[in-house]
Amino acid sequence: MARSRRKAPARRASAPAPKGQGAGGANDDGLPATGRGPPSGEAATRAARLERLGLRRDWDFLLHLPLRYIDETQVTPIAGLVSGAEQQVEGEVMACEVAVRGRRQLLVRLADASGELLLRFFHFYPSTRQQLAVGRRVRAYGVARGGLMGLEMVHPRVHAARPDEPLPQRLTPIYPTTEGVGQGWLRSRIARALRDVEIAETVPASLLAGTGLRPLDEAIRGLHQPSPGVAAAALAQQQGPWWERIRFDELLAQQISLRTARARRAERSAPALASSGALVSRLHATLPFALTGAQQRVWREIEADLARTVPMQRLLQGDVGSGKTVVAALAAAQAIDAGFQAALMAPTEILAEQHFGRIVQWLAPLGVRVTWLAGKLKAGQKRAVQQAAASGEAQIVIGTHALIQEAVDFASLGLAIVDEQHRFGVAQRLRLRSRTGEAQPQPHLLMLSATPIPRTLAMSYYADLDVSVIDELPPGRQPVVTKLVAAGRRDEVLDRVRAEAARGAQVYWVCPLVNEGEDESTAELTAATRMYEETHALLPELRLGLLHGQLPPAEKTAVMHAFAAGEIDVLVATTVIEVGVDVPRASLMVIEHAQRFGLAQLHQLRGRVGRGADRSFCVLLYDEPLSEAARERLRVLYESTDGFEIARRDLALRGPGEFLGARQSGVPLLRFADLERDADLLGRAREVALQMLARHPQQAAAHVQRWLGGRAEYLVA
Ligand code: ADP
Ligand code: MG
Repeated sequence: MARSRRKAPARRASAPAPKGQGAGGANDDGLPATGRGPPSGEAATRAARLERLGLRRDWDFLLHLPLRYIDETQVTPIAGLVSGAEQQVEGEVMACEVAVRGRRQLLVRLADASGELLLRFFHFYPSTRQQLAVGRRVRAYGVARGGLMGLEMVHPRVHAARPDEPLPQRLTPIYPTTEGVGQGWLRSRIARALRDVEIAETVPASLLAGTGLRPLDEAIRGLHQPSPGVAAAALAQQQGPWWERIRFDELLAQQISLRTARARRAERSAPALASSGALVSRLHATLPFALTGAQQRVWREIEADLARTVPMQRLLQGDVGSGKTVVAALAAAQAIDAGFQAALMAPTEILAEQHFGRIVQWLAPLGVRVTWLAGKLKAGQKRAVQQAAASGEAQIVIGTHALIQEAVDFASLGLAIVDEQHRFGVAQRLRLRSRTGEAQPQPHLLMLSATPIPRTLAMSYYADLDVSVIDELPPGRQPVVTKLVAAGRRDEVLDRVRAEAARGAQVYWVCPLVNEGEDESTAELTAATRMYEETHALLPELRLGLLHGQLPPAEKTAVMHAFAAGEIDVLVATTVIEVGVDVPRASLMVIEHAQRFGLAQLHQLRGRVGRGADRSFCVLLYDEPLSEAARERLRVLYESTDGFEIARRDLALRGPGEFLGARQSGVPLLRFADLERDADLLGRAREVALQMLARHPQQAAAHVQRWLGGRAEYLVA
């Protein structure tokens, strides 16, 4: 699954067995509901979960395509079972009992005319036992394996079978599911959509004719309900003309919406932020360092954009520590010099405050009025900031989401800067940008990101953005030395921590969330607190601090201040420190359970050290045993300090879904198509998109609506 094309759905599918579905497929379908005891309010919960998966309309269900198929069209005599293969048997329950063999389990003996088979369940409910009571006739589907007591199936899918019940005529689809939304439910919901919906073509016949693609109706029906003759393995690998048609339509939706977005943007106007450059020059002159060549180059690109009357939409990419903030400050200076205001939004309060500190240091001496807005401010203070923004008194406002939430209206916002843009919902970015109202000129938009976006992704998801890249670090930086250390050698790491602290350096000790379960906040709290206590017990002589996402903002800030001031030796933290935090004296980072993090994230974390002149270290503590694949993955970090190279390899290992943090960004990702593999289809989709937009705009809109539904708004940024 590592290189799954089915990104998010594939992960969902491998989620642990949902509660109340313990007996594998035992209550999948067909069996009576008595005793199953679904929790009350299940329907509402399910609706909420479906909503989160974007499954709302009939079309969402039609486009929720199977991951694979199982063949229940045949029954294998028990004596003829082949070990290791998925097969179906039908028989009568001879015995059904709960046993404790190390673990509590349900053992069911099933017999047909040819022999006997053991079914073993580790998760089961009273209803399961009822359904598998002695004398019942059932069909079981699963992998047969040799056990101590002959062949057995662990957690087979089980159906009640009436005598002489005909076998299904078609392959059974297996859908990506999520907790609380079972196969059986999805299957019947999708079957209903297939009955109710007329699968009409949105692509005009004249355009479709030249593509050599199969009709959509055939593709969708074929994929959901393939006949037994079809090569299930090929379908499961997303091969064949049906899948090709689906991928084409997905790419077409993407192409149409990107082109629409571009056209809309070109119609908007922005204030030309051309100025004498006086403030910019003064800022240049007062900086304690000279810009690197890369910083100068990107600054020239941004400077030119700002002077145009089309709103800039530029992504400034640069590895951690490459110095994006100063470029943002120059852009703000240009806006302010031209008589406009600037806003700078950061994803966390810690970062916003750091930016504030730096911008004040750089711009306040030049007479610029800098203001700061965060959720934690008192109502009166917030009102004062709002007034200052609305009157134009504040020339630059720096803050968190509060900038959006507190309905800050600017007298004349000329430039909006969003740091670490991928952490914001795209919709939120839009709201900040359109704060001045749709009809009025739009502010220019500059997004800063340390997450390098590989070219193929940039071209598709961010086709509407211009990209500037800082590909050079300020001089004098030493690369962070990275080490992979087994958790069993923690003592050596602790010695190292003591040594660093003894010479006045500081340490980050990072732990991941234990599991991203239902309640992430509780998980974060537990993980961080436990880690803090453990570390504290091991390093009683050192001053420890604890930082995690669930701390009240004021406390977070206080802890960060104390760390920055050198009053804390070891900061135990979750990934809240991932972005932007800048404490040059921190020279060692220890990352617990490193194998649980994504590579790009580890690289971001590692970027928190190596910001000063000292040689810095990053220790990746991994838990044993570490699989070869996991070791291979971590080795990438050990071998490379180049964020782009790491991102490229991370992408290859994981697929773009996780990479972009789809959940956070709300960017609708390609579910089926792959930009590299399907380059040829993409070309055809682009052609058809152009034709549809020019000659069949309504069908083009209908096509996007069908694929993206409510999510379309994100793409027409
Ligand atoms: P990032 O791109 O990760 O946001 P920052 O803007 O926080 O990086 O810059 C990292 C550090 O490097 C800051 O302390 C900043 O003042 C410093 N810096 C930025 N540009 C230069 C430069 N050209 N020469 C020396 N130091 C620089
Ligand atoms: Mg930064």
